[in-house]
Amino acid sequence: MAKSFFVVKVLLISCLLLVSNLGFANSKNPLKADAIFTAIDNGIAINDHQQYLAYIDELDSLIAPNDAWRQLRKDRARCWSFDIYTEGEIDKALAFVEEALKNPLLAQYPSHQLDLAMCKAWYLEQNGEVEVALKSYNKAVNDAYKIEDLRLVADARSIRGYLHSYQGNFTQALEDLITAQSMYQNLNLPAWEELNLYEIANAYRRLGDQKSAIRYFKQLHQSKIASGNFDVANTISVSIAIAEEELGHLERAKARFNEAYLYWGKKGDQMGQATVGVNIAGTLIKLGEFEQAQQYLDSAAPHILASDEGFYAFLHLFQAQIYLAENQFDNALASVNEARDAFERVKNITGLAQLQQLKSEIFVKQLNWQQAYVALNEYVKLHNELDKKLLSSHTTEMRTRFNADQIEQENNHLIENQQLRDIELAMLEQNKLQQWIIIILGGLILLILSVFAYKQSQKNKLLSSLALTDDLTQLPNRRYIYDKAQLCLEQAIKAQVAFSVISFDADNFKAINDNFGHEVGDLALKLLAQICRNELSGDQEAARVGGEEFLIILPNTNKTQAYEIASTLVQKISNADFKSFPQGFKLTISAGVASLKSDNHKLSSLLKQADKALYQAKADGRNQAQMS
Ligand code: GH3
Ligand code: MG
Ligand code: MG
Repeated sequence: MAKSFFVVKVLLISCLLLVSNLGFANSKNPLKADAIFTAIDNGIAINDHQQYLAYIDELDSLIAPNDAWRQLRKDRARCWSFDIYTEGEIDKALAFVEEALKNPLLAQYPSHQLDLAMCKAWYLEQNGEVEVALKSYNKAVNDAYKIEDLRLVADARSIRGYLHSYQGNFTQALEDLITAQSMYQNLNLPAWEELNLYEIANAYRRLGDQKSAIRYFKQLHQSKIASGNFDVANTISVSIAIAEEELGHLERAKARFNEAYLYWGKKGDQMGQATVGVNIAGTLIKLGEFEQAQQYLDSAAPHILASDEGFYAFLHLFQAQIYLAENQFDNALASVNEARDAFERVKNITGLAQLQQLKSEIFVKQLNWQQAYVALNEYVKLHNELDKKLLSSHTTEMRTRFNADQIEQENNHLIENQQLRDIELAMLEQNKLQQWIIIILGGLILLILSVFAYKQSQKNKLLSSLALTDDLTQLPNRRYIYDKAQLCLEQAIKAQVAFSVISFDADNFKAINDNFGHEVGDLALKLLAQICRNELSGDQEAARVGGEEFLIILPNTNKTQAYEIASTLVQKISNADFKSFPQGFKLTISAGVASLKSDNHKLSSLLKQADKALYQAKADGRNQAQMS
């Protein structure tokens, strides 16, 4: 039938293609189609199934046949639209998805392909092929991560968690469901969040944490009542009743089940009533009200098919319990077998364990110890398996709680770190300011210091030059010329070159002072200095070493050359122009020349020799030069 539907659809699409090619493309409305897809994404399927079905039909007319993305998106929407509680719908769904998956265009749209594959797995699960379904879900989760489609990751993990939970694998169930929950929250999909929370609550209930489960269920129940979604609210109420029963609150459970039973009755939903009926029977058996329990089972039985494994199995389990209470052992065993097949198909180990326990009770009552032992052994084995699962589940729960604590702690750390970083940043800013102030101040100080240092060095230079200069003549002084003479002497010895000195003294200077005054005497000394400066060149230097006594150093100059210089100097001075001096003014000098000898390297003896020659010049009549 689904195939024929597909053919019809293909024909329809072909017609539409034709129509749109003829220029009636205006009838297509992709924007409206997208609005419907958004409604579907946001969970219209959960909140209003009739509206959902109407939308799916409407989509056919809104999407152009060549609009591949939307056509495939529509297939996805239709795939999830089949009502698994109506007979034959699962088969239709499977046929539809089978065809849809054949579309070659799917290769270009991995998200569409993945969602269809997941949809198929969901119907296979409803058909009892849980192992195949689980494999598909595993693949779907991996693929969704691979293509980074967060919505599909959430869906795949939610749907897989639901199956894990049902099979008693709470470890994986809670991991999947809690992951999906936070993803739905982040994706802002409250309807799916609620649906997933319902599964989390169920997982907690199955795990044995009924109180947490009831808390979640009640939260959801209120939300569904508030939104006028009474059918779902009623289903949740049944879940609360189951949890209450598991807590041992049998009367509370019975009251809730009754309410739900009446609700479905008023709505004329026989299937709904039948499922609640099975649940009430279980509670009544625990209360020892076997007759009433039997009535509920009898009215439920015609509506519960073997394909509804869960309810079918419990229906027969409860039936077996009633038979046992009535000592109808063969009937009880037959019901046990009936229930076992169903539990095995859906791999419900809790159910199977309950059956083994019941079986052993039946054999005990029959005094068949051998069989009772075998059954009990089976029961223990199943329970060990369950305990293991439960243990790991409890570990998971601890871990989940621990993780939650850890996440909160990490969040606090993050906040603290952030605050710390803010403070650091503020400090850094402040430091920057301080650094700038320091740099600027430092620069200013350096500037002041360097100016100061420069001035100081200039002053030092001045001071040192002052210390080494004769104030009157501005010639180097005695201290300077003796140091310089020592240096030149050493260099000359080292380089084995000539070095000579001239020592000269103004003649009869006392008389000049006496005749013309001290000031004229000073001017005469200045004139002597000037003539020296004019006569000397290069590294030759003259200095004032006494009152009217001078010394000249002559590097690289031998005695003859030095004598010539001395003679020239004597001449120049005696022939100098004395126009600016008083009338009758005359000035002469006497000079003594000495040169470095290989046998005497001392400056003092060199100077002594020059002085000796100078005395000789004085003695020989002045105004002349003499060699030592
Ligand atoms: P001699 O030819 O033998 O050297 O005779 P002299 O008079 O030059 O010798 P003496 O050493 O007896 O006299 C040197 C004079 O030089 C004494 C001093 O008054 C004068 N004298 C020394 N220093 C200065 C100075 O700075 N300014 C002036 N105006 N005279 C000075
Ligand atoms: Mg003298
Ligand atoms: Mg003199």
